[in-house]
Amino acid sequence: MRAFPSSRSAHPSGAAGPALLGAIRRVLGGLLPCPACGVRAAGATGVCATCARRAVAPGLRGDRLWLGIYEGPLGRIVRALKYRGVTGLAPWLGDRLGAEVVRVGWRPTVVCAVPLHRSRRRRRGFNQAELIARQVARRLAVPYRPLLRRTRATPQQTRMQRAARLRNVRGAFASVPAQEASVLLIDDVWTTGATASACRAALLAAGAGRVRIAVVAVARGPASSPGEPPDRASASRTPTWLRKRR
Ligand SMILES: [Zn+2]
Repeated sequence: MRAFPSSRSAHPSGAAGPALLGAIRRVLGGLLPCPACGVRAAGATGVCATCARRAVAPGLRGDRLWLGIYEGPLGRIVRALKYRGVTGLAPWLGDRLGAEVVRVGWRPTVVCAVPLHRSRRRRRGFNQAELIARQVARRLAVPYRPLLRRTRATPQQTRMQRAARLRNVRGAFASVPAQEASVLLIDDVWTTGATASACRAALLAAGAGRVRIAVVAVARGPASSPGEPPDRASASRTPTWLRKRR
């Protein structure tokens, strides 16, 4: 008979520790202000019920889906996670994004995340896309795998236009072998799609059969280009190129 020693069974108190801490954090977290409005109590999930409702406005286009627009409550939730380190929001976002993936009927065999370069990962202490992706994988009951890595550090893209972003990230990602996998790639913010395109190319080059992308928030603004996920309101407006000609 083979034995499977388990640290958990050998030290029952070791398993209770994190669970107890988690419970305490949930109780205290419920008393903190909601990171999206700063007014109402956050509640057990980390976001107040009103902001939770307003944050989610999902959309789907081809192989890309998104949970909402990168402004208002969802913008503040993503920024609180990313820049203020409120990592307790990642499971909340991952659950909702996972629910959308289920709703549209996608059946990936593996979930991965857009990686940070290790120097930025070290500075921030975590990769928000990875935290969200891990929760999406749990929700879908498929494995999370860190398939991608950054082969070089790339400058921050915040103020770059799409063409500059494409140049910035071209060839910046590599994937471990991913033969025939149906990959669900997770990122926190979609701006021009340059990063997602570069990641998709790396995954396909590594043998992935299909790559779909689920992002938390789609950014509007000058960096967006025609053909990128729009908000429903602006989709009916006159395109920018047409307005300029008049
Ligand atoms: Zn709120």
